[in-house]
Amino acid sequence: MPEPSTPTARKPRRYSVFAIAREAMRLHSGWERAWADAQPRGRYKVVVIGAGGHGLATAYYLGKNFGITDVAVLEKGWLGGGNTGRNTTIIRSNYLQDPSAAIYDKSLKLYETLSQELNYNVMFSPRGLIMLAQTEHEVRGYKRTAIANHLQGVATRWIEPAEVKRLVPIMNIDGPRYPVLGGLYQERGGTARHDAVAWGYARACSQMGMDIVQNCEVAGVDIAGGRVRAVETTRGRIECDKLAIVVAGHSSVVAEMAGFRLPIESIALQALVSEPIKPCMDVVVMANTVHGYLSQSDKGEMVIGGGTDGFNNYTQRGSWQHVEETVRALIETFPMLSRLKMLRQWGGIVDMTGDRSPILSATPVGGVFVNCGWGTGGFKAIPGSGWAMAELVAKGAPGPLAADFGMSRFAEGRFIDESVAAGVAH
Ligand SMILES: Cc1cc2nc3c(=O)[nH]c(=O)nc-3n(C[C@H](O)[C@H](O)[C@H](O)COP(=O)(O)OP(=O)(O)OC[C@H]3O[C@@H](n4cnc5c(N)ncnc54)[C@H](O)[C@@H]3O)c2cc1C
Repeated sequence: MPEPSTPTARKPRRYSVFAIAREAMRLHSGWERAWADAQPRGRYKVVVIGAGGHGLATAYYLGKNFGITDVAVLEKGWLGGGNTGRNTTIIRSNYLQDPSAAIYDKSLKLYETLSQELNYNVMFSPRGLIMLAQTEHEVRGYKRTAIANHLQGVATRWIEPAEVKRLVPIMNIDGPRYPVLGGLYQERGGTARHDAVAWGYARACSQMGMDIVQNCEVAGVDIAGGRVRAVETTRGRIECDKLAIVVAGHSSVVAEMAGFRLPIESIALQALVSEPIKPCMDVVVMANTVHGYLSQSDKGEMVIGGGTDGFNNYTQRGSWQHVEETVRALIETFPMLSRLKMLRQWGGIVDMTGDRSPILSATPVGGVFVNCGWGTGGFKAIPGSGWAMAELVAKGAPGPLAADFGMSRFAEGRFIDESVAAGVAH
């Protein structure tokens, strides 16, 4: 018999300047664990598979917006150890299509106050973001996006090469192959600390009495009469009324356990960082024609990302050829990179849909919902996605933010095409 379901909320201990002073006085002996290392119970109202940012944010907004706290978040590895802890942290909402702009801008607005809301410093840094136009085609495309963004109420603007150079003096805008012809500038765009986003949501969920269970892999989904009954895990069977599958690159694998297929391809995406150097660039730059993007971390490292691998795979690691490809692509525009040592590289498994837009959807199985397809660009979407997914799970039907992102759009030909609009979708 499963144990009874008894969520117990923990009284939140606030982080503040007074708490730091108090702990300094007692040699930091009073800090408590940020979240409880929970043992799974036998039954929950809602089980979320995947303790990445999207899974944790889903759980958080289930509690905050709908009062549903009888929730377990099950993670096969460690919290935030998937793409959430592996991305290059770019945040922006300058998408072309209306449904995309709506959900990404909701997310950006939530990011703007997330540290205060979670009482956890996610180091959100709205330092501005430029998408470089390096071909005539991109000039036309980004001018069009600037107008679309204006109509959507998302503040972006087209900037000329001289302003790009003023904002990023280290850039060579006169490259022989790909000169900088201007850019799409979003002043509110920027970065945040990726682990902190996962940790902040985890702490808030734990304080609401939810169980975050690490080292707990879901290996099967038990369905009876077309409805979910339980999940089989490496730590036993866990019953639930509703199941949210939020596992990014493993979405097809878990969907198969529940007996349906997803229009998802899983591909490794890689990134790398240089040795730390003095502050030299306080804007995020994306160069989509050459397929590279760049920002400087608070530690001084140049954080560099490129394109996906050219073939589907589940390999969570970097490769030499990718370092060369990505850095070579960027050197014409950022010659200083040629003199930097590269420190680390890594990879994550991203979940790509054909139209490069996410899926937030009910599924053919009663009580099972899926959130995936954020591909190479879902870090920025974590708060907005969690908000919309919580509504979908709580009500059983999508709210306005998720309404267009159902999986039936692929059968019905209602694509939300961001692949042409963004080139790379980070
Ligand atoms: C190199 C790289 C750079 C990127 N750069 C950016 C960027 O600059 N900006 C941006 O917006 N996005 C970026 N992204 C994309 C972004 O990281 C992802 O879209 C986002 O983190 C997805 O979050 P998630 O919570 O859905 O997935 P994840 O963080 O991957 O979480 C899913 C979790 O599910 C767990 N899981 C899987 N299967 C099971 C199972 N059977 N049982 C239990 N748990 C399971 C995994 O272990 C994992 O922890 C980048 C991604 C990569 C890899």
